[in-house]
Amino acid sequence: MGRKIRWRTGSGQMDHEVIEAPTPHILIESRKELHGWWRGKRECTSERLLINPYNGCSIDCFCCYAKALPGYFQLFRQHQVVTVCRDFDQVVSRQLDDLLVASCGYLSPVTDPFQPVEKRYRLSEKIIGEFVQRNIPIEFITKSHFRPEVVQLLRRQKHSFGQISILTPRENLRRRLMAGGATTDELFGNLHRLAKAGIHAVCRIDPIIPHVTDDAADLFRLARRARDCGARHIVASIMDIPRRLAAEIFRHLSTLGDGLVYRAKNLYRELIDGSLHADLDYRRAVFSRLREECDRLGLTFALCMEYRLEKSRPVGLNAEFMSSVNCEGIDIPVYVRSGDQFQPASDCDGACLTCQVPRCGIQDLAMGRPEAARRDFYLRDYRRWSCEVLAQTSHQKGLNIWDSVPER
Ligand code: SF4
Ligand code: SF4
Repeated sequence: MGRKIRWRTGSGQMDHEVIEAPTPHILIESRKELHGWWRGKRECTSERLLINPYNGCSIDCFCCYAKALPGYFQLFRQHQVVTVCRDFDQVVSRQLDDLLVASCGYLSPVTDPFQPVEKRYRLSEKIIGEFVQRNIPIEFITKSHFRPEVVQLLRRQKHSFGQISILTPRENLRRRLMAGGATTDELFGNLHRLAKAGIHAVCRIDPIIPHVTDDAADLFRLARRARDCGARHIVASIMDIPRRLAAEIFRHLSTLGDGLVYRAKNLYRELIDGSLHADLDYRRAVFSRLREECDRLGLTFALCMEYRLEKSRPVGLNAEFMSSVNCEGIDIPVYVRSGDQFQPASDCDGACLTCQVPRCGIQDLAMGRPEAARRDFYLRDYRRWSCEVLAQTSHQKGLNIWDSVPER
């Protein structure tokens, strides 16, 4: 008998068997629904369907904000046990079958989709397959190596792409920032594998850690090597410190160099939505230098979740620094079903956040209209849009509303 762990969630307390290989994890049943970007200060220009087959991440970056999240994320933070949603690809598959409108899938906002447990369950790879077989785009962000099969799947869907997160070009330093993850050479190799297959490849320097990875020459070297490997776009941010994690983050910083904690405490003076942010002038200086270098290298550039306060309200910094239309450097419209496959709903640039004319036919999505609000969307919204789109189509073509939905 393996060891058991007792864990309390919203639905009560349960004993779980811990499976030790390849990293300690438990299996749970989950009916989690696909959903859009989180409520709040959204800066992401294009719609996504967010998917987390795993909770907790054994790459274990010292500054990972997901460790501040509740529920099974705390199981990892306290016990280093990852939670795996059993057969989650099938849960996703059933949800996609009920939709006539879908946006690009996103693996995964709060874990690494190719962390070691993926070797055992292949949930991320299977989920990519579910999207691609329906011709719905999907993207991922990773600090891990992934199988060649993933590249083969992505190249079958023209808007699918990959983002590789590289914090430093120095392998010795990378190993001190996280417990796992692919080597620096493997990460640049990931960019090369994607680009060579004709897939949009993004390099994320996300986050830059003040006084640790912010050396300008290092950042330029990283961007140049990413460009040479085929990346076309850079996404950057500066590390935030969730107040809940401040003690852990400062403890780790103290192992990285003398005086770092003192310097960080002087720099992190702005509190936005429960997280400490580095001084705005410092952030602007780092972003200006990096944007200029990306311009020089022929790369587009954007920020992720960077804000300043204006009359106590967070305002995104992308308006000052982004050189692409969409923050991930690729233009992807929403898709609509056509038989058992999906197709782009329009030939738009997919920047719903600033869109004023919803050529896709979905009014809610065009958040650039004067009367529209910035909002987050749920599976129920996608279902509602599906009904609207189908009603329009059936009205135009005299079709039966559910003819194009596959039978289970
Ligand atoms: S790879 Fe991403 S999700 Fe995993 S620990 Fe690092 S920052 Fe967190
Ligand atoms: S037409 Fe506008 S709202 Fe519709 S997918 Fe394109 S950018 Fe988004």
